[in-house]
Amino acid sequence: MKVLCILYDDPKGGMPKNYPLSELPKLNKYPDGMSLPSPKAIDFTPGELLGCVSGELGLRNFLESNGHELVVTSDKDGDDCEAERELVDADVVISQPFFPFYLTKEKMEKAKNLKLAITAGIGSDHVDLQAAMDHNIDVVEVTYCNSRSVAEHIVMMILSMVRDYHNQHRIVNEGGWNIADAVQRSYDVEGMHIGTVAAGRIGLDALRKMKPFDVHLHYFDRHRLPDSIEKELNLTFHESVESMVAVCDVVTINCPLHPETENLFDTKLINKMKKGAYIVNTARGKICNREAIAEALKSGQLSGYAGDVWFPQPAPNDHIWRTMPNHGMTPHTSGTSLSAQTRYAAGVREILECVMDGTPIRNEYLIVQDGNLAGMGAHSYSKGSATSGSEEAQKYKKM
Ligand code: NAD
Repeated sequence: MKVLCILYDDPKGGMPKNYPLSELPKLNKYPDGMSLPSPKAIDFTPGELLGCVSGELGLRNFLESNGHELVVTSDKDGDDCEAERELVDADVVISQPFFPFYLTKEKMEKAKNLKLAITAGIGSDHVDLQAAMDHNIDVVEVTYCNSRSVAEHIVMMILSMVRDYHNQHRIVNEGGWNIADAVQRSYDVEGMHIGTVAAGRIGLDALRKMKPFDVHLHYFDRHRLPDSIEKELNLTFHESVESMVAVCDVVTINCPLHPETENLFDTKLINKMKKGAYIVNTARGKICNREAIAEALKSGQLSGYAGDVWFPQPAPNDHIWRTMPNHGMTPHTSGTSLSAQTRYAAGVREILECVMDGTPIRNEYLIVQDGNLAGMGAHSYSKGSATSGSEEAQKYKKM
């Protein structure tokens, strides 16, 4: 079996010689009782960089000692890139949402042996899911591996935007001390109305993590949460996204990208938001209209926009979100902390062990199976494709 693995570049200064922490905290299970990834063994040290090319997700020894071929590359965009060349006879492709290999219909048609696309992380919209269904290519992801990592990032971004942390930090770095400059956009979160578009693993965890700040919590989802959770968090459920955004000071977006959610936050919806609201989007860049967000920040309809997801990725150097006012963007990092990498590397290994042993992959990991949405895919996605326009990623030039 040939496994093609597309990973982000190594650190510019080479792989770290040491790490800030000598070990990771021990987790026993996820909050709903689901067990953590449980491969038979791992060949890496938890807490080390695994998501970059030299990290190889800790897979080389395992695959090669079992007689399989592993090709790892970060050269993923453009017609003659290494990933596209190697894909032609690959059986399995592994890609991370942070640095996605856009597996479009055209690429699938060239990949005659391809049977499985594994997302090392969560969110498989970089795979044309409709084409995967049509070409009988299964798609799986490591459900839950980084959901709580992202929820932590969301809390960080809500607090840092509302309190205007970035501006204050910049003033210190520049040697300044003008308090009035530092606080003229700074508020408390306490008492605000905070709403999530989707209350799945990430959205619900973000709500739970925000609860102690004494805020009012809202959600909109196509699946309603159990009564007990609505009561526990004193949650207001909204029948439509429009109804929720009209009353929220902060909206966090936590649904997958699929045809129903693509371009959901366009000018029309943003204009229905409370004036001066904030958006935190760690779901997918394409859920928000690029120009509409930049325009709303300029006009003041939005007070801030933060997140870590862009379209395409890497974002072209001249992507307007890099320079728009009052943004708190990071590269796509929330789900690839060293802690999360350990979990998804173990999850990928668990999936590959199932493939080798001919045993079923956990139902929770399934997105597409046997030509149809399956498992979490059937719960959280709709049919169709959301990969169009991904060729623009080749415009990015390494700095
Ligand atoms: P999940 O499957 O547990 O939750 C997804 C939720 O979205 C479900 O409750 C589903 O009902 C809801 N949903 C789907 N379509 C909807 C629609 N049209 N309207 C309203 N709700 C809708 O997944 P999760 O673990 O919470 O992850 C959610 C998404 O977050 C992923 O699909 C991915 O795009 C993104 N994500 C980002 C990162 C990152 O590093 N930034 C990491 C992990 C996941």
